Amino acid sequence: MTAFVDAYDAVFFDLDGVLYLGPLAVEGAVAGVRRLHEAGVATVYVTNNAARSTARVADHLSELGFNAREDEVVSSAQAASGLLRRELPAGSKVLVAGTDNLVEQVRLAGMVPVDTYAEQPAAVIQGYDPALTWPRLDQAAIAVQRGARWFATNTDSTRPTEHGLVPGAGAAVQAIRNTTDHDPEVIGKPHRPLMDEALARSGARRPVFVGDRIDTDIMGAVAAGIDSLMVFTGAHGVRDLCSAPEEGRPTAIGWNVESLFEPQRTAQVDADGATCGAVRVRVADRATVEGELDTREGQLDAAWALANLVWEGRVSIDDPVFARFDQLP
Ligand SMILES: [Mg+2]
Repeated sequence: MTAFVDAYDAVFFDLDGVLYLGPLAVEGAVAGVRRLHEAGVATVYVTNNAARSTARVADHLSELGFNAREDEVVSSAQAASGLLRRELPAGSKVLVAGTDNLVEQVRLAGMVPVDTYAEQPAAVIQGYDPALTWPRLDQAAIAVQRGARWFATNTDSTRPTEHGLVPGAGAAVQAIRNTTDHDPEVIGKPHRPLMDEALARSGARRPVFVGDRIDTDIMGAVAAGIDSLMVFTGAHGVRDLCSAPEEGRPTAIGWNVESLFEPQRTAQVDADGATCGAVRVRVADRATVEGELDTREGQLDAAWALANLVWEGRVSIDDPVFARFDQLP
């Protein structure tokens, strides 16, 4: 039996909703990562969150049992640092709307962090900062309006916590976008700089990305030209998968990180439907599902068959068949 992961030399992980949710490890994630380490497969932790240092992210992962090293963590703040170094002359003033970690990365890039538009910064960079103040946003907005280049570590509109969704870095980016007529240059997923940093740093030749969101993880993997596994332990579910645009379709799906060790799910599409595993989705006026739907694996088979049909325009995203997926988000 060939495991999906056998085709790859490294696994890149999204964190929230894949490895942990707030203070808790996701079911199967610790065991899955341990198996990768035992098999000698490289692991890389790729985070859009610029607030925390890579050392703190590695510590948090290790506290949860992942045994992560700092050099396995790649953050949008680090990728931002590399990008600023390439894009701006050394010693340029940069107004930072982010945490001390982002300020430190701006310094490491050889730039001079400043606090006000009056200092005429060459660039503004925004990153997730739970202590962001409105006056800081005002300074950043005016600097952008006066011609500073505008960078954002990421544009995630929300952030999952164990209590519920809270506004993400994208909410603060949108606040500034409302005051200008252009968009920032974005570093994190689904944009390339963060993925490129992860590829360069890991030296991986054939990595696979494991993520829970279509709009950041899977689109980021597609944009970087690497394969992906979508898991269902986080933010996105069956409808998100089925409505994914062409540039946001995963290579494979599975319940959680341990799905890396299962054979790849494949769907055969034919004239009247699609088959995946022991499940068949039949298409007539509306879609119907035949086979085992009372197990999670059966539901994943059905979801993959259905996704392939929706992507070919054969089943509507409004089809009542979606109500059958009661064991998946
Ligand atoms: Mg996530």
